[in-house]
Amino acid sequence: MPMNFETVEVTTDFLIVGGGMASCGAAVEAAYWAKKHGLKVTLVDKASLDRSGAVAMGLSAINQYIGVGKGKNTVEQYVEYVRQDLMGVARDDLVYNIARHVDGTVHLFEKWGLPIWKDDNGEYVNEGRWQIMINGESYKVIVAEAAKNALGMDNIYERIFIIEPLLDGDRISGAVGFSVRENKFYVFKAKAVLAAMGGAVGVFKPRSTGEGLGRSWYPPFSTGSSAYFTIRAGAEMTCQEVRFIPVRFKDAYGPVGAWFLLFKSRAISAIGGEYMVERKDELQNWAPYGLVKPIPANLRNYLGMLDCSEGKGPLMMMTNEAIAKLADQYKDDPKAFKKKMKELESEAWEDFLDMTIAQALLWAATNIQPEEKPSEIAAAEPYFIGSHSGASGAWVSGPEDIAPPEYFWGYANMTTVKGLFAAGDASGASSHKFSSGSHAEGRIAAKAAIKFIVENNTQPAVDMAKVEELKAKAYAPLEIYEANKDFTTDPEVNPAYIKPKMFMFRLQKMMDEYVGGVTANFSTNKPSLDRAMELLTFLKEDSEKLAAKDLHELMRCWENIHRMWQAESHVRTVMFREETRWPGYYFRADFPKMDEQNWLSFVNIKWDPNSGEWDVFKKPIIRL
Ligand SMILES: Cc1cc2nc3c(=O)[nH]c(=O)nc-3n(C[C@H](O)[C@H](O)[C@H](O)COP(=O)(O)OP(=O)(O)OC[C@H]3O[C@@H](n4cnc5c(N)ncnc54)[C@H](O)[C@@H]3O)c2cc1C
Repeated sequence: MPMNFETVEVTTDFLIVGGGMASCGAAVEAAYWAKKHGLKVTLVDKASLDRSGAVAMGLSAINQYIGVGKGKNTVEQYVEYVRQDLMGVARDDLVYNIARHVDGTVHLFEKWGLPIWKDDNGEYVNEGRWQIMINGESYKVIVAEAAKNALGMDNIYERIFIIEPLLDGDRISGAVGFSVRENKFYVFKAKAVLAAMGGAVGVFKPRSTGEGLGRSWYPPFSTGSSAYFTIRAGAEMTCQEVRFIPVRFKDAYGPVGAWFLLFKSRAISAIGGEYMVERKDELQNWAPYGLVKPIPANLRNYLGMLDCSEGKGPLMMMTNEAIAKLADQYKDDPKAFKKKMKELESEAWEDFLDMTIAQALLWAATNIQPEEKPSEIAAAEPYFIGSHSGASGAWVSGPEDIAPPEYFWGYANMTTVKGLFAAGDASGASSHKFSSGSHAEGRIAAKAAIKFIVENNTQPAVDMAKVEELKAKAYAPLEIYEANKDFTTDPEVNPAYIKPKMFMFRLQKMMDEYVGGVTANFSTNKPSLDRAMELLTFLKEDSEKLAAKDLHELMRCWENIHRMWQAESHVRTVMFREETRWPGYYFRADFPKMDEQNWLSFVNIKWDPNSGEWDVFKKPIIRL
């Protein structure tokens, strides 16, 4: 294969990296402010904007809507809810800032054409207190269209995989990446950059293997690039230990939110007991968080996990019972009863068809009619998703008007690296922003980034020698493959290189077994974490030998390098926090209790790009 790759240079003012919910919000907001100041905004996505990121397949609910002024909820209550759900570890200022802006974002979605369910009074239909129901199979297409209209397609680069940040001293100066379709290497030079490349899936071994391999709760597109990008730029990270484990319908990971919240379904063990009732006393051990409503997601997981460890699995979602209960009020009117049953049945299927089509297929394939029999649920493998019920991401500045001085350094959502902003899954300690809050946070970050550019309006230097070095590094897996592939009869197995799939399996196995994955029953301890660090060191060495037969595999190589760094920052922070704060997400068997006195704090971590050294330390939690 001729190793001839053109270098394409793009100079811009503001670079948005990623094309998901946060980026689409950033695009709309940045376009507005950039026009006022005569600035250029560029967006780059590894995929196609219409269907990229976690919302690609669609969603059936918008999970953050406050309804400010409707007399039901307040922003303060949302802050309280998030803090409790994260067992006390959340940045009130960031959560507050998103919550006070999120309704405006949802109203924009509706204006752009997203169908939101309405009741007879024209009000949004709530799934739970903060969630509203949508017909969301085209959610991402609608949100992307607005971003495209705002920026113009000339300013959007699709199918470019960003591999590394560029730095000018302590300031960000751009990013580099390669086209996954053409022999082109891209150099983006910018005055400010927003990192919004989602969270990470595939760091831990998934439950799905063999014919099911590739299925996970988290769509497979986000592979730790946000964490990698911000860590490699030298940004301080937070909550890298706070992974998320969703309990979902087993094997196809279908959503349970509508069942628990809308259909009011119960979950029981195979023996028949309701773990949330039978194990209520366990919640006392996790006070004060265990004693509030709603019970934190990790503790709900934990109670179910206790049933499973005692051999009472599988756990079952009582879909049949829930549907029967809802239809019961129509039992005296056969026509109305039939109509209601039909309605509930189609809502049940639509919930999956909107966002997790595979679950509908699995139901069909295994003869499940939700109105007739219950379905299995199970705890998934761990993911990194700071916008959902995890919290990992960059440590960013709060908003000027409400952040305490310790949390404010000039521009909302700017990381500790000058000019580098983060939003959505890329920013940490502000969980429960979900799709709508990520979009709102993208808007917040973009507005602040434009302000940063106006006040620091110089083009930082880009070291082209460094760029050449990165280009060689980017394509090295193709060269390694070409040079060695004929040494063995099966190019998948070769002593001179490792293919990305095998590399991923290695990473996943060590994380699973030593860092509290499914196999280890989500439990770990210091010796296991030490072993994981040792194996990670070998893996890192072998990452130099990754090999790719084409551009697609090259992307897979880089995805796994990004995952590996996400993994390392996780191992280091889980090791540092000597307590168990989120049972149900992970358990430190050597420190099995929560320690409010010593550990009610953030754990932050930083990698120094000059020395290559890691530093892990505490940061205080300051309440608003
Ligand atoms: C399974 C699941 C179910 C969910 N359900 C709901 C729900 O019901 N309701 C709700 O409101 N929210 C839900 N969410 C949350 C919501 O999807 C996220 O909060 C939101 O998508 C986060 O936005 P983001 O921009 O940070 O990331 P994403 O939207 O995931 O976007 C990431 C972007 O980065 C790009 N990218 C990744 N790596 C690179 C790279 N190296 N170079 C260039 N581009 C890159 C991707 O292509 C993508 O465009 C769910 C999330 C998941 C995973």
